Amino acid sequence: MNAGAAAIAALLLTLPASAHARRVVLGHSVEGRPVDAVELGDPHSSNKLLVVGCIHGNECAGLAIVGALERLPMPAGLDLWVIENLNPDGHAAGTRQNAHGVDLNRNFPWVWRPLGGIYDSGPRPLSEPESRIAYHLILRVRPRISIWFHQHERLVDESGGDIAVERRFSALVGLPLRRLLREPGSAVGWENHRFPGTTAFVVELPAGSLPSAAAVRYARAVLALARKSAG
Ligand SMILES: [Zn+2]
Repeated sequence: MNAGAAAIAALLLTLPASAHARRVVLGHSVEGRPVDAVELGDPHSSNKLLVVGCIHGNECAGLAIVGALERLPMPAGLDLWVIENLNPDGHAAGTRQNAHGVDLNRNFPWVWRPLGGIYDSGPRPLSEPESRIAYHLILRVRPRISIWFHQHERLVDESGGDIAVERRFSALVGLPLRRLLREPGSAVGWENHRFPGTTAFVVELPAGSLPSAAAVRYARAVLALARKSAG
């Protein structure tokens, strides 16, 4: 094997199991870190799902779930979009907010209003590059279901959209279905109001990091939800 062939063989070994995985840089955070999306499965399928592993930088257990998703074989007829980490600056700093001190999940254009403190909603809707990145991807992809991972209340939030979808995910992962306050400027609030007929919801994972077996279990639940609710 010549050097070029060996390099290609080594590269192939590092690729995830999914046959069709495409990574795109969507934009950059306040501090210039890339924010990527990974598209898995069939780009031509109308069954489009979005999973966001982390939006609050100190609630990032969902990163293990999206990592597991990228290693699972994709079912036919699914176009799965993954934003691993929408808030890399907050994750690096261990903060809920982005590097401007803004809570990204209060910065979306649905009943946005000025908020301060730890829920600082920014100077205006979509003031933050990270929020705009998610906003533009969602407008482009129009996911039928979006799942946003947070911590650490151990529940599936009845966030709006189709409660049957949320109930099904709750049963699949064994977390109770509860209704949290519908916060102004939240990503799921914006999605559920902007795109009637779609469902965006929050999953509050347990505290701490997820063991890898649990991450795989959540990832399989995402795929099961995609299949069961298709069409
Ligand atoms: Zn959160």
